[in-house]
Amino acid sequence: MGKRVVVAGGGLTGLSAAYYLQKQDKTLNITLVEANDTLGGKLQTVYQDGFVIERGPDSFLKRKKEALELIKDLGLEDDVVSNHTGKSYILKDGGLHPIPEGSVMGVPTSIRTLMETTLLSDDGKIRALNDLILPRMPAFDDISVGEFFKYRLGEEMVDHIISPLLSGIYAGDIYKLSLQATQPQFIKAEKELRSLIAGLKAPKKTNESKFATLKSGLSRLIDKLAASLTQTALITGVKVVGFDKQDQHYSLRLSNGQNLWADAVIFAIPHEITAELLKAPYLENDEADPNTSVATIAMAFDQKDVQMDKEGTGFVVSRREPISITASTWTHMKWPHTAPEGKALIRCYLGKAGDDKIIHLSDEEMVRTALDNLKTVVNIKRQPHFSVVSRWEKAMPQYPVGHMRWLNDIRGRLQSDYPNVYLAGASYEGVGLPDCIKQGKEASTQVIHSLSKIKI
Ligand SMILES: Cc1cc2nc3c(=O)[nH]c(=O)nc-3n(C[C@H](O)[C@H](O)[C@H](O)COP(=O)(O)OP(=O)(O)OC[C@H]3O[C@@H](n4cnc5c(N)ncnc54)[C@H](O)[C@@H]3O)c2cc1C
Repeated sequence: MGKRVVVAGGGLTGLSAAYYLQKQDKTLNITLVEANDTLGGKLQTVYQDGFVIERGPDSFLKRKKEALELIKDLGLEDDVVSNHTGKSYILKDGGLHPIPEGSVMGVPTSIRTLMETTLLSDDGKIRALNDLILPRMPAFDDISVGEFFKYRLGEEMVDHIISPLLSGIYAGDIYKLSLQATQPQFIKAEKELRSLIAGLKAPKKTNESKFATLKSGLSRLIDKLAASLTQTALITGVKVVGFDKQDQHYSLRLSNGQNLWADAVIFAIPHEITAELLKAPYLENDEADPNTSVATIAMAFDQKDVQMDKEGTGFVVSRREPISITASTWTHMKWPHTAPEGKALIRCYLGKAGDDKIIHLSDEEMVRTALDNLKTVVNIKRQPHFSVVSRWEKAMPQYPVGHMRWLNDIRGRLQSDYPNVYLAGASYEGVGLPDCIKQGKEASTQVIHSLSKIKI
């Protein structure tokens, strides 16, 4: 019998881990355990009346190579489609303002783009210009994203540009979010260049598409991954509920009463669940806020019934705007394959750090909230034909300041307490789909390496 590896969690991270395990070693005995009846975790596509609707993620960054690499490996490259580029906006004071052109995560890369933006007051622009003369920040390992940009560019810039753009990805409190864990390139830029406005280079082609997805829906990636796992026993609808170390092995208790023995384990489930299973107090991160709950509301219309007075692909919402939605993607404009000819698909996002109430609203209340908010900037003449509401409770991990130091520390301690046990997934080194694939892949390589030292 080959060496036994258990992967806990059948989201994209766990499936990628299993895929790369079996790709690297044909003799392994791999079992993947997933709590839900279906695989994929947050990747779920709904197909209705010719619309392709993503409940969770809708695309991935092309720049991070792991997603396209895996897709190619699985023979899905013909299904890849890039986003239609178009203006995107920030909703502020009841109006849509273009995101400064040529900016990097909203940071203007020239004085001209800063002066042209309608998102900042004159005082806000003058404050941002201080970036040109301010000294470097005193040396630091990590700092909150909010504090860093407030120092360099001022509070207005944080509230109206940086925060809405980043909150769209992390749904977090920008004054608690770790710069090192989320946007480390800015630490390097400040160290090397000092002024961000003067030092950062505008992206070469500002209208180049940055994102890609699968035309037939991201669930296809999950289906294809699952189908390729011929060497892996897939157990779905069952949770890992207990974990013990016994000599050189591990025993995992499952919710169906089954017991699994393993020589190595990859935990690809939310960290708070892993911490409970391993019962090691050092796994708790006292600095971290609870994961944020979010919801998506996809609404299908006839195109003639939704009139945007601006061309574009959607908007994010300024930090101080008194509305509930945090962003809206005009999906049929950004991803034309998602709606049949003549139809429109609009997706809105709800959910902010520290506020779980919103996702406990009924479907009807959520749709009403999304429509009311949307109508302040889009002329909607009719109710949607149908809507798809998806709740993601405690789904978005919050990386606090010092996250990377904490992660290195717990990984070191795990190595000695629980050899051959690895942590991977959105709780650790990035929430994006390529980040999750990368972590699954890296965990698989570490398992292969450490198991090669064990004789059975
Ligand atoms: C609304 C939304 C929109 C997003 N949009 C994007 C986007 O456009 N692009 C992008 O790159 N990223 C996006 N993300 C982030 C991305 O979807 C996630 O970070 C990623 O899918 C996480 O994958 P994962 O496998 O690490 O975790 P998950 O998908 O959460 O998978 C973990 C799995 O573990 C299972 N599990 C939990 N406990 C147990 C247990 N005890 N035993 C067994 N199994 C267990 C769960 O059921 C789940 O299936 C979005 C996230 C959300 C919520």
